[in-house]
Amino acid sequence: MIRGLFVGTGMGALAVVGAMLAIPAALPLLGMVRKVSSTALRAAGAAWDALAGVILEDRLAAFLDDLAAEVNATITVTSGVRTAAAQAAALLAKLEAGETADDLFALYKRDDLIAELLEAEQTLEAWTAILEDQISRGDFLSSHLTGRALDLRSRDWTAAELAEVEAAVAALGGRSVHESTPEHLHIEVPS
Ligand SMILES: [Zn+2]
Repeated sequence: MIRGLFVGTGMGALAVVGAMLAIPAALPLLGMVRKVSSTALRAAGAAWDALAGVILEDRLAAFLDDLAAEVNATITVTSGVRTAAAQAAALLAKLEAGETADDLFALYKRDDLIAELLEAEQTLEAWTAILEDQISRGDFLSSHLTGRALDLRSRDWTAAELAEVEAAVAALGGRSVHESTPEHLHIEVPS
């Protein structure tokens, strides 16, 4: 593992020591990927924070810098770039939390990819393998798999703070969806 220095571009206040990760060959990322240390973020006085283990691409970190400069709400990133295994875990967690197959079809644009998953045994191993196969075919269920999406913790925000963040995301050219299970704001960043 190589230690790397990550420097955000938006605020000039962000200097994060991160560890570069080995990127699975199936993950079609163009930029550098680093694992962000939440402790390092706080020490650097960053305007946003990320849970330990969250993987961010440069484009995502730059978007967070810009977003944090526009809002007063606390910005905590709960998910960024996902491997197939992390995406499988996120989907299975939704089902375990009470969401149904219909909820998955409603949330994701690719019904064919969701159908492939639902036809299989609902295990991390099986769903990871299916997602890896889809990725190898160039089929991406989620923009988290291509390094274009972020999840922000929204449960501590007031309605006004949620509206403020949603408006700022739109003003920055992004798109957001307030998801309920588990509650978070999903953001797709502009390219
Ligand atoms: Zn998301």
